Amino acid sequence: MLDSLRQIVQDVNSAPNIPAALHTAVRQTRQVLDVDVCSVYFTEPDRRRHIIVATQGLSPEVVGHVQFGFGKGLIGMVAERTEPLNLECVPAHLDQGFLAQTGADPYQGFLGVPVTHRGRVLGVLAVRQRAARRFQEADVAFLATLAAQLGGAIAYAKMSSDLCAVCAPQGAEEERYLEGLIGASGAGIGIGLVIFPPRDLASVPDRRPLCPDQEEAALRMALQALGEELEQLKSGLKEKLPAADRALFDAYAMLLQSPELVESTVARIHAGNWAPGALRQTIELHAQRFEQLEDAYLRERATDIRELGACLLAHLQQVAVNPVEYPPQTVLVGSQISALDVMRVPPDRLVGMLSSEGSPASHATILARSLGVPAIVGMGKLPIARLEGQELLVNGYQGRVYIRPGPVLRGRLEGFVCQERLLSAELEALRELPATTSDGTEICLYTNAGLRSDTNACLAVGASGIGLYRTELQFMLNDRFPTESEQTVLYRQILEALAPRPVTLRTLDLGGDKPLSYFPVQEANPMLGWRGIRMTLDHPEIFLTQIRAALRAAAGIGNLRLMFPMITGIPEVEETLALVDRARRQLLEEGVSAQQPPLGLMIEVPAAVHQAQELAQRVDFLAVGTNDLAQYLLAVDRGNRQVARLFDPLHPAVLRALVQVVEAGKRTGKPVSVCGEAAGDPLAALLFVGLGVACLSVSAANLPRVKWLIRSIECTRAQELAKVALGYDRPQPVRRLLAEALNDFGLSRLVSAIGN
Ligand code: PEP
Ligand code: MG
Repeated sequence: MLDSLRQIVQDVNSAPNIPAALHTAVRQTRQVLDVDVCSVYFTEPDRRRHIIVATQGLSPEVVGHVQFGFGKGLIGMVAERTEPLNLECVPAHLDQGFLAQTGADPYQGFLGVPVTHRGRVLGVLAVRQRAARRFQEADVAFLATLAAQLGGAIAYAKMSSDLCAVCAPQGAEEERYLEGLIGASGAGIGIGLVIFPPRDLASVPDRRPLCPDQEEAALRMALQALGEELEQLKSGLKEKLPAADRALFDAYAMLLQSPELVESTVARIHAGNWAPGALRQTIELHAQRFEQLEDAYLRERATDIRELGACLLAHLQQVAVNPVEYPPQTVLVGSQISALDVMRVPPDRLVGMLSSEGSPASHATILARSLGVPAIVGMGKLPIARLEGQELLVNGYQGRVYIRPGPVLRGRLEGFVCQERLLSAELEALRELPATTSDGTEICLYTNAGLRSDTNACLAVGASGIGLYRTELQFMLNDRFPTESEQTVLYRQILEALAPRPVTLRTLDLGGDKPLSYFPVQEANPMLGWRGIRMTLDHPEIFLTQIRAALRAAAGIGNLRLMFPMITGIPEVEETLALVDRARRQLLEEGVSAQQPPLGLMIEVPAAVHQAQELAQRVDFLAVGTNDLAQYLLAVDRGNRQVARLFDPLHPAVLRALVQVVEAGKRTGKPVSVCGEAAGDPLAALLFVGLGVACLSVSAANLPRVKWLIRSIECTRAQELAKVALGYDRPQPVRRLLAEALNDFGLSRLVSAIGN
């Protein structure tokens, strides 16, 4: 049974579309469990019903017709209880609805399991037996496992049909949208541009080729390159593989030369699609033909064809002839969007971002937020390719995306944007005023930055300096490590632009979700891997170059502060300080007047929290990175949408860790700042001030709001609130408490959920 289950799961996952996946599931389940009927029902919460969407054993006409209201019949019971229902002999009164709707004779045995996805019931998978039958525990486990798999598939199907509904011309347009997690608020309308990872053929969009002949040539080059690669592989395996197995390579080679593959793709190119899009169409059609065959061995060949298509795409991407053309108003769409993908779009063209993976705490999202670009992330499996070229309205206030929005929606969104602009314009009056609470506590308010252009934004909002400059972003834009003099020029520009305000350069924080294309690292678990200071200490040549560049750049200006990421212990600090000292002495020997800048450590892992005092004693300041601190304290990968709802910087564990760090700062007389994204959220900022944090570093887009908050509150009241908040055992009451306090302070516009 286990083998059958594995096979069904594999077939379900590789099915080209949901009807095919459901058909496969019910057909094979009926066979394996030897039952008379197997059916799947979808739950439609809006219509409060469960409707049959696939069946084997009942007449095909019932699909789309047989339905049960919530709580009605056996299916309603399974969905309501969210647990399996195993009945040897169904009581007649429970099945009347089913028999009346299907016109079937009674079935005695029944086993139904709920299909759930992320805690929500999406449907029911049920089998029936004409004769009385008590299903075994193994049968229940089989059906439950399959239902768990179907959960993901059905969630995707719903997303796809949402998309169809959204594209359809009729119906109230405000009701037709795709949904995800809010990455960055705001609204934008633009044209979808799909970016897709190497080898991901399914995500390749259709695009008009600039020059069909060039596309054809690229395809032929890719075909040849893959043919040669296969030939080499085959001869390399001559000794190791029997001739029969090596014949597979011949089959691949034949397919690569077959007119079904080559000529039909070429024809599609000349009919108006670029080579990757034409290839996707050909491979998909070919694979589907195999999938429809009865013979299990031949059906399996569909997987080979898709794999071959992915290899061909990889070769095509190497000989790519099309530079990406970003529309004047680009909405970036992808399964996974990296910070580099965001940086590649000319900033004046980017109006929105959507991704099926990712979460609000990922670096790409943080970047979008700092650019003021609305972003919706973690949308789940999206039919990405179909969003290419579509007009998309990104509503980052509610986490919704509308396709081809009409005038009503546009008008509404423009209203929200106007309100935001109005508030921003009003807050401009605070630009030159200090961030001092109404009872006289001054909070220093810095911005976070990472791109050269961020310095303008920092100055425009009247920040007191830069509290976090993410130097790695510039490294990611390069195609090799920047030289010492290149870095010196860049850092000097930033320091000069901000002088005399302080600029906190954070040394390279690579790894995790910030890889370098020219320094690839393969790790099973990058977030717990070779990140930040760990990497730079292992490469003193890279680290020393950066520190020398920073010290050189600061000569004669004197506003540099250096900060080190991902510190987990004292030995790392000692090694780091020794390297800073070495760089400075080298420069002095070379006749460069290098001063020792203030040095600080980021507190972003639990180990550093527990040693905060010893760490503080060795440096000049501490900066709490709540993004990573929450990630590591809560064991929630900050880029993983599956667990994004568990990521919460207001979790009691994070707040208590922050208290520990603030106290360590007080005991050692070293200032403590918070530079994670939470500092830019007015609710959290209010709490941080109450907890005694003297300095907040936030994105430039958020700074005016945080300044307004600080100037409107009494520090003593913030302290009282913090005391109460620390007594709560979960984040929700903390959030409620703070929201009510903002209301009392007359700051409801800071929390009003625009668009709700
Ligand atoms: C943090 O972890 O909170 C932080 C500010 O650094 P980054 O987001 O760049 O990891
Ligand atoms: Mg960090």
